Amino acid sequence: MAKFVFITGGVVSSLGKGLTSASLGALLQARGFSVRLRKLDPYLNVDPGTMSPFEHGEVFVTDDGAETDLDLGHYERFTGVAAQSTDSVSSGRIYSTVLERERKGDYLGETIQVIPHVTNEIKRFLEQHEDEVDFMLCEIGGTIGDIEGLPFFEAIRQFSQEKKSNSCIFVHLTLLPFLSSSGELKTKPTQHSVKELRSIGISPDILVCRSEVPIPSKEKEKIALFCNVNKKNIIAANDLETIYEAPIAFFKEGLDEAVLQVLGLKSKSRPDLSIWEDVSSRYRSSEGLVKIAVVGKYTKLEDAYKSLSEALIHGGLANKTNVEITWMESEEFEKAGQTKRLNKFDGILIPGGFGKRGTEGKINVIKYAREKEIPFLGICLGMQLLVIEYARNCAGLKDANSEEFEEKSHSSDDYLIYHLSKWIKDHKVEIRSKVENKGGTMRLGAYPAKIKKGTMAFSIYKNEYVSERHRHRFEVNTRYQETLERNGMTFSAFSQDGMLPEIVEISNHPFFLGVQFHPELKSKPFEPHPIFSTLIKKALEQTRLV
Ligand code: GLN
Repeated sequence: MAKFVFITGGVVSSLGKGLTSASLGALLQARGFSVRLRKLDPYLNVDPGTMSPFEHGEVFVTDDGAETDLDLGHYERFTGVAAQSTDSVSSGRIYSTVLERERKGDYLGETIQVIPHVTNEIKRFLEQHEDEVDFMLCEIGGTIGDIEGLPFFEAIRQFSQEKKSNSCIFVHLTLLPFLSSSGELKTKPTQHSVKELRSIGISPDILVCRSEVPIPSKEKEKIALFCNVNKKNIIAANDLETIYEAPIAFFKEGLDEAVLQVLGLKSKSRPDLSIWEDVSSRYRSSEGLVKIAVVGKYTKLEDAYKSLSEALIHGGLANKTNVEITWMESEEFEKAGQTKRLNKFDGILIPGGFGKRGTEGKINVIKYAREKEIPFLGICLGMQLLVIEYARNCAGLKDANSEEFEEKSHSSDDYLIYHLSKWIKDHKVEIRSKVENKGGTMRLGAYPAKIKKGTMAFSIYKNEYVSERHRHRFEVNTRYQETLERNGMTFSAFSQDGMLPEIVEISNHPFFLGVQFHPELKSKPFEPHPIFSTLIKKALEQTRLV
């Protein structure tokens, strides 16, 4: 059975529990252990799929098609372990399972209660696949003291009681505020947070303390004394220049060693941090600056495009160059003369998105990038708009549009970008209607694609068969392929059945590519996605032209 590490947070939210969990996962791997990371979220949505990116940041999609919390993206980027649908759960999902079972009569007339029915369901979630790895790292969303989180805390408390001793440990993340007026780090909020945790029966084994400044030994002693935690297990988490230095920083602080020591385990192998040393040295030796404009709809909250901004940074690491991302609102480009503002950028990207707002602005941006030969990448909605722009301005299809933005009387077949209602997944036919629930009705998760030799796409991947993750309802209509190709566009990759275009490109341009999937979801700092490395490479070449 796996050892369980529960990661909780206190004092304030956004302390970096996700990054701490992900870094710990990477460190345990560096010591030869296999890991899996999970997120338990207290909100009542069944999954984050229908939550606005403004509210909750990006929706991270797994290979098996689950729409999950963006922390699963951090986990994957740090450990390279592909997240699965069984790695993410919310209160909403737990409650809906309990209520479904109640309706079916599974509880044989019992009164359904938070304890034991909800907590049992949480424990069932935790036990899935527990034999498959050495370590199961489980992060509890929110902050200790939140009403919504209580059933999760109660469940992990019971879980640790029921398992053999030395099976579970608790890592609690807190904040040590620094008062500049007195030049002091304050430990009181941490003491209160631990007290709160204790009041529900959980004693932390390790405290990870976020602070702006290094934590003096005297303060660590004080925290150890008041919180009843071994001083060696008080781990400092200071601010870092890049999140990718976190594994090495935590290693130096002894986080992984503390975990092993509490569990009475020996390292399986000598810690090998070479991939993180390489990432760190690439970051430190990066030279120059590539400026990328990302034109989207949710640009006010960077978390809405978390994987994307990380993937661009990875592209920079691959080329040992710094990447500066400027987030721009697409609606601004609907006014005449605005695209000129883009001339200072070395590359332009239009990410995925939903709905009509801002789409004409994005089309203007694409036209500008195409005509001015600025390296351009369109992802998902970005690819659909790239095809619309090309159809309208280069292939004489003046009315080209997407069924998503324009409901006319004509059938789906007539749209350049049409609503897909029937497709094949794992040899089974999937059918969706336009009027179904909004949750989980998209082409979701990993689908294989076949790339045509001799295309830019092939030179990027150097492979004929690839698998990438999807999250969309609309597709480029192959009825228009012939017209578009006659006018200079290449359809460079298709789904396995040859029905759904996956990549399009044009050749008389340094880099002008549209992808129907989300390559950013699979990029890692130690394995940058080739599409992002190439985009940054081409953008870098632009900076050298001037
Ligand atoms: N709105 C488009 C669709 O549903 C694109 C989705 C996306 O960009 N993820 O097909």
